[in-house]
Amino acid sequence: MRAAITRYEAAHQAMGTEFTLVAYGDDPQYLTAVGNEVFDEIDRLEGQMSIYKPKSELSVINRTAASRSVCVEPKLFELLVNAVDHSQSTGGAFDVTAGPLMKAWGFFRGKGRVPSNSEIAQVLRRVGSRHVHLNRAERTIRFDMEGLELDLGAIGKGYAVDRAVDIVRRYGVTRALVSSGTSSLYALGAPPGARGWSISLRNPYSSEKAANIVYLRNCSLSTSGNYEKFFKLGTKTYAHILNPSTGKPVENMLAAIVLAPSACDADALSTAFYVMGVERTREYLATHRDLMALFYLPSSTGRKFRRAILRSDGSSRIGAFFPRTPERKRKSTRKGTSTGASARSSARYATARWDDRSL
Ligand code: ADP
Ligand code: MG
Repeated sequence: MRAAITRYEAAHQAMGTEFTLVAYGDDPQYLTAVGNEVFDEIDRLEGQMSIYKPKSELSVINRTAASRSVCVEPKLFELLVNAVDHSQSTGGAFDVTAGPLMKAWGFFRGKGRVPSNSEIAQVLRRVGSRHVHLNRAERTIRFDMEGLELDLGAIGKGYAVDRAVDIVRRYGVTRALVSSGTSSLYALGAPPGARGWSISLRNPYSSEKAANIVYLRNCSLSTSGNYEKFFKLGTKTYAHILNPSTGKPVENMLAAIVLAPSACDADALSTAFYVMGVERTREYLATHRDLMALFYLPSSTGRKFRRAILRSDGSSRIGAFFPRTPERKRKSTRKGTSTGASARSSARYATARWDDRSL
């Protein structure tokens, strides 16, 4: 007799968000043990990467790498190599050294403030991945100037999701969804009887409404949205993603969503594409593989928004399926990009929340 399939679900606060794990298997106790291991690992990663913890390995690097080379734990070193690669390949749109800028805008422990142009110019002198030197042979990091600070806020949660999925896989679980709140998620396999995990992408103006549904199987998704963290001053809203070339928050962007084989890459690239906008992202995708990007862009009429979907070579193999609506069918003749499609859904989940109804 075959054992009944059990659905396990648990949540855990870490990295300023709520991680969740959903997994299917035949032994609830086993799944609970896997879940505990996953959340222990996420806590360990937070202890290593947080800039809010003075004793974290990243804080030690930030304090000392300008005065001497610092030896880095192997996995963190790999992540830093990846982060610097993304900083370079996106022309600095994703910049792992954006830390001092975040502080200048009061996003670090602060309530938000608007720095003067001269202060921004001063701070920008301390931003740039070219000042970070990683020595692969010795596994060390060195900054070539004082005041540089690494910030893994745009890649760390995706990285933690990938590490969690490694654990889940190692324990033989084949159907699971790991998510880091509204940031990044990875969909492993599919729920029983389903084609994929059903993910509802929130409307950029209302967390109660869905803007799109996407089905994922062995694929990750990351969102960078202007509604995640922001402050208001007068009539103006300042969101937490900064353009490292101007030193100011990005405007005219509601959300950038990336689908990719790894959550770490999806996380870094959703931030990068948010900064780069549609046209620069199109150029990026022309020379990279296995990626899909979805933008929600402000429209001139009130709280409406426009969509743009871009695909790189190989994107049809990454395990992401958008259900076809009549409007999408009509527009899909325009190769590469479809804009303005409207997907209706009764799902009420926020971005990167999930709904594993069977298809
Ligand atoms: P979320 O934190 O919701 O996952 P993102 O992945 O877009 O959103 O990360 C945003 C965070 O990344 C900011 O809170 C900040 O710590 C950092 N950051 C802001 N702008 C940049 C940038 N241009 N490059 C790299 N990191 C950034
Ligand atoms: Mg990100």
